[in-house]
Order: sequence, then structure tokens, then C-alpha cells
Amino acid sequence: MTDFTQVPSDAFQQLRRRVAEITRYGAAMAVLGWDQETYMPPKGAAARARQLSALAQLVHRLSTEPQVGEWLAQAEADMQAQGWDPDGDPARFLKVARREYDRATKVPTEWVAEFSRLTSEAQHRWKEARQRQDFALFAPYLRRIVEMRREYAEFFAPYDHIYDPLLDAFEPGMKTATVQALFARLREAQVALLQAIMARPQVDDAFLYRPFPVERQKAFVRQVLAAMGFDFQRGRLDESAHPFTTGFSVDDVRLTTRYKETDFFGQAFYSSLHEMGHGLYGQGVDPAYEETPLAGGASLGVHESQSRLWENLVGRSRAYVTWLLPRLQQAFPGVVDDVSVDAFYRGVNKVQPSLIRTEADEVTYNLHIMLRLDLEIALLEGAVDVDDLPRVWNERMEADLGVRPRNDAEGVLQDIHWSMGSLGYFPTYALGNVMSAQIWQALRRDIPNLEAQIQAGQFADLLAWLREHIHRYGSKFEPLELLERATGAELHAEPYLEYLRTKYGEIYGL
Ligand code: ZN
Repeated sequence: MTDFTQVPSDAFQQLRRRVAEITRYGAAMAVLGWDQETYMPPKGAAARARQLSALAQLVHRLSTEPQVGEWLAQAEADMQAQGWDPDGDPARFLKVARREYDRATKVPTEWVAEFSRLTSEAQHRWKEARQRQDFALFAPYLRRIVEMRREYAEFFAPYDHIYDPLLDAFEPGMKTATVQALFARLREAQVALLQAIMARPQVDDAFLYRPFPVERQKAFVRQVLAAMGFDFQRGRLDESAHPFTTGFSVDDVRLTTRYKETDFFGQAFYSSLHEMGHGLYGQGVDPAYEETPLAGGASLGVHESQSRLWENLVGRSRAYVTWLLPRLQQAFPGVVDDVSVDAFYRGVNKVQPSLIRTEADEVTYNLHIMLRLDLEIALLEGAVDVDDLPRVWNERMEADLGVRPRNDAEGVLQDIHWSMGSLGYFPTYALGNVMSAQIWQALRRDIPNLEAQIQAGQFADLLAWLREHIHRYGSKFEPLELLERATGAELHAEPYLEYLRTKYGEIYGL
């Protein structure tokens, strides 16, 4: 275990102490943010906004002071002079600290302030536009967001593609060209698979919507998460309007979910498995990385690979369902006693093209993401005008998914991300799916009886593998490097496509 206090560089030690201090304020902000979404009474909002803003300003000042840049440069010089191992923890500490410092200082303060005002106004307008199903109300704000995002990219020039600096904020080191090539391969194959599935008789999943008493749902989810390896001594599960995961240290990781009596699986159950995947990652980072830039995940895509792996590759597998169903029948007497393992398995894997991304199944989900990526790039390049977005959106939905939005709320206005200015975020969802299948392929190679273990409710080997190859490294490696080290191969689409074809070919008799 690396002891960062022993690194022989005064500048490194100064930097390390500053990073630790910033991390503590960041964790305090995370506690306030978590509380805001879970327990804060509605009228606490105004005071909470002031508290968070004060801490955000403090963190920004402590992160961007010229002194920090000087420590960083001196520590880098010490590293050169002393010949540190470039793959060692101290060298990687500096690499990540440099990335974060540059990102925080290359963008002028005035730009940040203006963008913050713009997106806060844009979010109000987006809500109103969505309510009235009228994109035109939001269009001028989106136009300005796109303009400002072009300016943002220029702060990081030179780049290969104008989208690269935006993507890099969420997936360090990832290039637009890499994602485009990957998505082109996926899109063609996933559209073809979807069309083949739609030509087959549909599976029945009505039993999933029978009433499951909420109090029992809560106890059951907790019991399942504990059995799968989530450590409740170092974490909690609470309720919020939108499920999320946050953490204040490796020993305090918070998950949230939501409950609805007649939609146990669509709301609480699978979203809890999803958030648990994020949470296990958070609990699995090397404790030596606490309060360093190496704590936290490698990227949003890698994080999503972990949540998707537990939610789908494990949670929607036949082996898992075989383990789960008898427990479900015991916990909810009489509710699904007449449902077979086979019927349950088919039900939780039903493929149904829908208008809404967050409700999409495994076969259609990436198609929603590809649409957004292509539109974001087209907007930045100026190839599509903001006013034309609803038309382009609807045509693409019809071409790829065979469904057409009846209004803008069901279409171009459904997601909050653009109003928050988060261009570059969407692709991480699909990258996570692709990575999850590639990781799964490596797991099955290394643990030949993995399915038998899952069917017996044994998740320890699976979790240990993820800890060993992914979790413990935190953000030490960039996503593509981490994936290659973990799986022995570069990021590629085939494992995901192979997974989809095998699984859904069997379910739908293709
Ligand atoms: Zn997630």
C-alpha cells in the first residue's frame, strides 16, 4: 500500500495536503447534496443553496490558487529528477492532479459565472417548455448553450475534434472518433436485432406489475443487496425522487432508490441493483487513495459499466433469476407463486421500443444514446440548426426504433442534461454498456463456474475479481487503459453484440 506521506518531494507534500483539504470540503458538499435529495424539508432549499455555494467558492479558490500550480510544477520536476515509476501511485497522483488543475484554470472565471447563470435560467425554461410541450420556448437557451460550449472547447485547443474537450471532461483520454466508430458498429447491429425481435411474438410481463407491499419491498431489497456484497456498515440505502449514488469516503457510500407498489421491478428493484453497482465500486477503492486525486472512479463510463454489470449482466441473467424467484415468492406470499423461472426471466428481459430513454431495455438503450451523441456533434459542428432539432429527433426515432414522439415532451425535451449544459455526458451511458460486456467476458474466462455460483447466490468471487481488476485502482488509470489492463483487449463492440445476440436470440427464438 502506497504511503503518499513518504514521497520525497516537499512540493508534492504541500500539494498532497492541499488536495486532502479540498477533498474534505468536497465531501461536506456531498453530504449537503445528499441530504437535500433525501431528508431536507422543502423550505430548507434557499439556505442549502447558500451553504453549497459558499463551499463551492472555497473549493474553487483553494483549487486554482497560483501556488497550487507552482507546487504541481515543482513536484513534476522532482519526479523527473528522481525518476519516479510512471505507473506508480505518486506519478499517477500528479498526472490526475495536473489534469484537474488545468481543467479548473484554463476556463476563465467570467465564462464559468456566465455559463452558470445561463444554465440555471435554461433549466427553468426547459421545465416550462416540457410542461407545455413546446420546444420553441427552450430553443434560444439551447442555442446559447451550444455557442458557449464551442467557446469552452477553444480553451482546450488544439484538439482533433471540437467534441473531444467536452467528452474528455467525463471520459478522460477518450476521443470522439473512437466513440463514433464504436457506435456506428453497434447501431447497425442493434437496429437489425431489434427488427428481428419485433417480428416475433411478444413476451408477457404483466405479473411484474402486481402489487408488492412497499414495506416488504424495502426489507427485501436491503436483504438482496447485503447478500450480493454491499457493506451496510460502510453505506446506506435511502429514498429520493431520482435514484443516485454518492459517497463521502470509501467507508461511507450512499445509495438511493424509490418505491411504487405496482412497479417493484421497474422502480425499486433493478434501480437498486444499478446503484449498488456504483456503490460497490465506491466501497472498493484502495483506502490508501483516500483524500487523493486517485479516489473515485476512472470515469462516468467505467462507473456505468459497474452499475450495468450488476443490474443487467448479473441481475437479468437466468442464473440470477433462478436464485431470486424462490426468495421473492417467500418474501411476498401468493404474489408470484404461479410464475415460473422461465416466465420471470423472459418478463424482466422484455424488449419494447419506447420513446423514453430511461425506460429503455438492453436492446434499445444504446440507440437512444447514439441519437443524442449525433445531435450534439451536429449542433457543435453547425450541421444541424437548433430550430430543426425536433424534426431531426423524430425522424431518427422512427428510423431506429420504429416509434415517433407525439410531442416535444416525449421527444427532444425529455432529458434535463442539455439544459444543464452537459454536452458530452450522454455517450458515457452507452460506453458503460459496452465495457460491462467486455468485462463480463473476461470474468467468465477467469471464473469458469461463475453462472453456477450466481445461481447458488454466491457473489464473493465475482466481487473479488472486480475489486482486483477495476475497483481498487480508483482513477489511477484512464478508462481505456484500465479496461485493457482488466480484460487484455482494447475497447470493442463485439462482446456486447455477442451478449445481446445470444441472450435475446434465445428469448425470442431468432
Ligand atoms: Zn448509473
